[in-house]
Amino acid sequence: MNSEEKRNRYNEHSKKWRRENPVRMREIQRKSYIKNRDRIVLRNREKRENQKSLILEHYGNECTCCGEKRKEFLAIDHINGGGTQHNKELHNQGTYLYAWIIKNNYPKDLQILCHNCNMAIGLYGYCPHQIESGKLTEDEAIKISNDKALNRRIRYYKRIDS
Ligand SMILES: [Zn+2]
Ligand SMILES: [Zn+2]
Repeated sequence: MNSEEKRNRYNEHSKKWRRENPVRMREIQRKSYIKNRDRIVLRNREKRENQKSLILEHYGNECTCCGEKRKEFLAIDHINGGGTQHNKELHNQGTYLYAWIIKNNYPKDLQILCHNCNMAIGLYGYCPHQIESGKLTEDEAIKISNDKALNRRIRYYKRIDS
């Protein structure tokens, strides 16, 4: 018997053992998980941080609104909205936004925003930086945030009316 045959036979044998001893097997897996979980957590985090670096690099490494460059403050934003829904869908499929972005070859409808700008835009529909830089007037900003509040309300009316 050559070494490959030996290995195959060993694999067959251990597969059979695992099939026949599910309770023992679960116990072994549990112990091994407990022994390794810190390492697994750190390894997964490192992987996510590496993915984040690749993605930030691709989208320009700074907040599209204010130019913030420190990566701890930066997040990926869906330019046309729908981010929460998308994240939920990905979560249901057991995948993460970072992995999805890389797999889908860096879609064009994403951008980098810092958490401050992201929150302001999410809550008010505009960011005060846009007023400060002259991209929006105060009146335009007020109109945007009113429209946003009304749209949110209309969605709510639709839900309770139907
Ligand atoms: Zn910003
Ligand atoms: Zn901003």
